[in-house]
Amino acid sequence: MTPRAWAAITLAALLVAVVVIAVLRVPWSAPPAPRADQLAALDTLPADAVAKGRAFHAALRPGTYLSIALGLLVAVLLGLTPAGAWVVEQVSRPFGGHWLARALLGGLAVVLAGEVVALPVAAWRQTILRRYGLSTQDWSAWTVDMLKGYAVGAVIGAVVLVGFFTVTHFAPRWWWVWAAAGAALLTVLLSFIFPVLVEPVFNKFTPMPEGEQRTRLMAMAERDGVPVRDVLVADASRRTRAVNAYVSGLGPTRRIVVYDTLLEKAPQDEVESVVAHELGHAKDGDVLTGTLLGAIGAAAAVCALYLLGSWGALLRRAGVDAIGEPRAVALLLAVATVAGLLAGPAQAFVSRRVEARADRHALELTGDPAGFEAMQGRLSLVNLGDPDPNPVEQFLFGSHPTAVERMAEARAWARGAR
Ligand SMILES: [Zn+2]
Repeated sequence: MTPRAWAAITLAALLVAVVVIAVLRVPWSAPPAPRADQLAALDTLPADAVAKGRAFHAALRPGTYLSIALGLLVAVLLGLTPAGAWVVEQVSRPFGGHWLARALLGGLAVVLAGEVVALPVAAWRQTILRRYGLSTQDWSAWTVDMLKGYAVGAVIGAVVLVGFFTVTHFAPRWWWVWAAAGAALLTVLLSFIFPVLVEPVFNKFTPMPEGEQRTRLMAMAERDGVPVRDVLVADASRRTRAVNAYVSGLGPTRRIVVYDTLLEKAPQDEVESVVAHELGHAKDGDVLTGTLLGAIGAAAAVCALYLLGSWGALLRRAGVDAIGEPRAVALLLAVATVAGLLAGPAQAFVSRRVEARADRHALELTGDPAGFEAMQGRLSLVNLGDPDPNPVEQFLFGSHPTAVERMAEARAWARGAR
């Protein structure tokens, strides 16, 4: 059999694996709580705050769509014309066009072009965050954050570019095997090291101070049967007034993180609801599910790219001879950009289902639907969320159930209807 046939079989097997894992580890049942409960919950939120959240989102909306459109435009202009290959040749010229210079400098230059175009929109977005009082950063702190983001992106990007084009260089027929395995491994590795290597670049994490709050949260984790060494507090207030919590990492690097803003603004019962939700993620292994789906998805994407490489018309459009050569890096990024846009709603759908399960876990663990509903209301108001957004945008971008869906879930649960 040819490498092509093997790649096609492998791609099919990986897609089956994605479906199997999604069926086994993502909760597919349980539709949102009744609309009547959602509307009743919406009625309890102060009208002026709801209006402010909606105005905030209306102000952000043009920037959101503009940045998607610009990202796509740059990707297509560079990747589906010979312009990208030209950029790669120019920046690698001082190194005699060596393949490694083409891979690393050419790749980073193409990525940078996209970042430069996105920068004005990001700055515009920041002016809106500041106008609405959600951001606590001045322009110098914001610039430092952007630069840190570029630095982290450049390091990860360099590893990916050099790794990928090294295997295409030395294994021109079977590179997809090595690249697929590498992509999957890198996804798992990033999940492990992200909390200990990348998150501290942006925030300081300190163990929650000893006291009644910590004792109660640790007791709740114990009751839940989830081993938690510590609850960490992130100094999010240096950047935002928004409140949040999350769980990240795998195995030894797993941690539950709450924003300092949450501890400042929310009473104890609401903090417990938030942490109970995060314990739900930990108990159900949601980070592991996401990592597995991401790793297999990344390997499948490599196989698909390899197969796409025999599409002559596409290669001619980009002015390259093969999809595995460094001059084709802009073409690869264009394909990845389009694929990412198409996969976005599917990822959001899976995420909403997983989040709804963690919400039910929080209700069962705390037995406190009132605290849960109050917390969801606060989250939406403080974060300037739209508690009941446009269904199309919720479908496209919503990573969580809407605030009114989550509040309604607590109501339905309270009367024993869930
Ligand atoms: Zn969650």
